[in-house]
Amino acid sequence: MNLIEILKDSIRDIPDYPKPGIMFRDITTMLGDAKAFRLAVDALVHPYVGTKMDQIAGIEARGFILGGAMAHQLSAGFIPIRKKGKLPYDKVQIAYSLEYGVDEMEMHRDAVKPGQKVILVDDLIATGGTAEAATKLLQQMGADVVAACFVIDLPELGGRKKIEALGVPVRTLIEYE
Ligand code: IMP
Repeated sequence: MNLIEILKDSIRDIPDYPKPGIMFRDITTMLGDAKAFRLAVDALVHPYVGTKMDQIAGIEARGFILGGAMAHQLSAGFIPIRKKGKLPYDKVQIAYSLEYGVDEMEMHRDAVKPGQKVILVDDLIATGGTAEAATKLLQQMGADVVAACFVIDLPELGGRKKIEALGVPVRTLIEYE
């Protein structure tokens, strides 16, 4: 099996979650599969091995798991980008649109220094709204967002273009229609 087959084999599809008509791609089974988890992290960091990366920024919550492993592999720091109200220190925030309504995400004001090279990571990009907000937050604080990485892309929802429009290359491992 190649990488794409191994990853797709390890990801569980849950129909009608969180609501009817949605096919949820559950990566907890990939995380629990030692070989698939290692292959996914290795593939995500592959282009950056040997280059100096300052920080990996992970989007709550599955981006924390992937991002922690990536930070270790690249000897980089880790920045948690969290849902509103979870971080204890001085924060910066950005509002973004959900399907119904608006939410906010936050990071610590001192989490990134201007000019630091940062890779953003989450498990999945759909419409790109979540990753777009996280990218803008990092850029507003002066980060050089070198790439945005995701295990899964849902290309029909057009998220990639939103991130590329911010000048950030997008790297994904597998796609679902
Ligand atoms: P977007 O903002 O529309 O790109 O949605 C991406 C966000 O929703 C990410 O934080 C994902 O973790 C989450 N998400 C949306 N659909 C799925 C799914 O099928 N599986 C896992 N996470 C999902």
